[in-house]
Amino acid sequence: MSVGLVQAAYVVAALFFILSLAGLSKQESARAGNYYGITGMAVALIATIFSPSTSAVTWIILAMIIGACIGIYYAKKVEMTEMPELVAMLHSFVGAAAVLVGYNSYLHAPVMTPVEHTIHLVEIFLGIFIGAVTLTGSVVAFAKLRGLVPSKPMNIPHKHKWNLAAVVVSVLLLIRFVDVGGSVSALLVMTIIALVFGYHLVASIGGADMPVVVSMLNSYSGWAAAAAGFMLANDLLIVTGALVGSSGAILSYIMCKAMNRSFVSVIAGGFGQEVSLDSDEEVGEYRETNAEDVADMLKTSKSVVITPGYGMAVAQAQYPVHEITEKLRNQGIDVRFGIHPVAGRLPGHMNVLLAEAKVPYDVVLEMDEINDDFTETDTVLVIGANDTVNPAAQEDPTSPIAGMPVLEVWNAHNVIVFKRSMNTGYAGVQNPLFFKDNTHMLFGDAKDSVDAIAKAL
Ligand code: NDP
Repeated sequence: MSVGLVQAAYVVAALFFILSLAGLSKQESARAGNYYGITGMAVALIATIFSPSTSAVTWIILAMIIGACIGIYYAKKVEMTEMPELVAMLHSFVGAAAVLVGYNSYLHAPVMTPVEHTIHLVEIFLGIFIGAVTLTGSVVAFAKLRGLVPSKPMNIPHKHKWNLAAVVVSVLLLIRFVDVGGSVSALLVMTIIALVFGYHLVASIGGADMPVVVSMLNSYSGWAAAAAGFMLANDLLIVTGALVGSSGAILSYIMCKAMNRSFVSVIAGGFGQEVSLDSDEEVGEYRETNAEDVADMLKTSKSVVITPGYGMAVAQAQYPVHEITEKLRNQGIDVRFGIHPVAGRLPGHMNVLLAEAKVPYDVVLEMDEINDDFTETDTVLVIGANDTVNPAAQEDPTSPIAGMPVLEVWNAHNVIVFKRSMNTGYAGVQNPLFFKDNTHMLFGDAKDSVDAIAKAL
């Protein structure tokens, strides 16, 4: 392939990536968006492999076959609820790649003018820094999402001073690195600092802020890829990295707004959070109910709202949920869904599950669209949701989730909470909703409970 053809292919691939992002922004066009992404990636890979500057094509193809086999195996095996963990793990690979590309570029620098050499050194330094932060940050995010480490924030004394010190020392090392025309010791010390910094940044963030962390690491991985693009002088990698980096940053900003968090405070490792440590203690008496009584209550309701959460995904209860929705709608009962922006474990998690079960889009409403309607609602079914319906966010200023907008389900006449125990949700905070007079707990696996209600209906 000639250089001109490779550049043309890169432009085509970049256009496909832009179309892909545009497609992914709406449910109806998301499938097409995926296909655009796949096509863009295929064009990019073919152009890169057969470009005149690529050597050892056989090795590349061999590595790709091995990588593709592992990728296909995991993509088929992964459960929907494990998707954020997989994404976090993939981000760590991008970080690791940027670090390796950085060291490789340092060791095998091409012949350059002094100015080009200085720019190249800065690219190497920044590329390795961003890559190392992304690498350890993503590994911690993976461990938190998988439950290998507790989701509670790590609070070491003077944590913000440590973060600031890491940045200042890294800047001084950058100056030294460029000054002496590339010092390996400065590079190694900075790499260690960046690895610890990435670990600390994500470890300091509490469970409820994890959605922002995942999208933030998505953004970092984009910048790491763009940095690798600069080091390798690969325009497509720069464009793609910038697309991923900026879309991840926009998503993080949207998630922060949805959770009423300051963007800067989350990326600075949960700045200013006061965490009450006894927040998982029970706060009163709760009432239990059973599937038959819930079915009777539903039959006498005029309006029903279902607020699903992570537990619906774990139990795969979306199919029987659709079944009871249809049964109630056929009896003239108004049934709608209220979706919190961070319900589940990835953005849009609930929308995907409900779409999979063929629940019509027009009854699936965003939190802001439904929150005012709860006072007029007869029955709310909280299916496997916890943090997203927690009144403590509004009532308790010392709660780790204080200030986060929530679905105000307690304003309805009756609330039924489907879960297996009195355990807390992802943020590790007890939920006063369970102890309110109009709330009844329906214990058990959400799918079994909804199945039993469908039968009773
Ligand atoms: P939560 O994680 O707060 O609560 C889920 C509840 O489901 C638990 O209380 C659990 O209780 C119950 N549950 C689990 N399995 C089952 C089952 N098989 N049957 C019935 N119930 C079950 O869920 P929410 O969706 O309300 O909130 C999401 C949380 O995750 C937020 O804190 C959010 O910040 C965080 N998060 C969100 C991400 C996103 O992008 N959306 C990413 C990362 C984190 P029990 O064990 O008693 O059954």
